[in-house]
Amino acid sequence: MSDLTILILAAPLSALADHWLGVQCCAYVFIPIRTLVQDGHTVGAVVIRLRCRRCGPGPKSVVMQQHGAAGASGTASDPAWVMSLVRR
Ligand SMILES: [Zn+2]
Repeated sequence: MSDLTILILAAPLSALADHWLGVQCCAYVFIPIRTLVQDGHTVGAVVIRLRCRRCGPGPKSVVMQQHGAAGASGTASDPAWVMSLVRR
């Protein structure tokens, strides 16, 4: 796990409210962080509670991404980024 991943997991959700979680399991789902924001909750506290609606356990992978679309690349002056948070 990289230092940046640890920083993101420890960050309050409100600090990343304009970003998205990309959750991969039986399907790929985008979750806007702004819909998850609760006072004092960190990104990690939410990620650890994620469950797949179809198969039950935690999803195979979770990424933090700048845009809520697969392959979204942003623009030259504002390139999109994707950071892996969980990989099982
Ligand atoms: Zn699943």
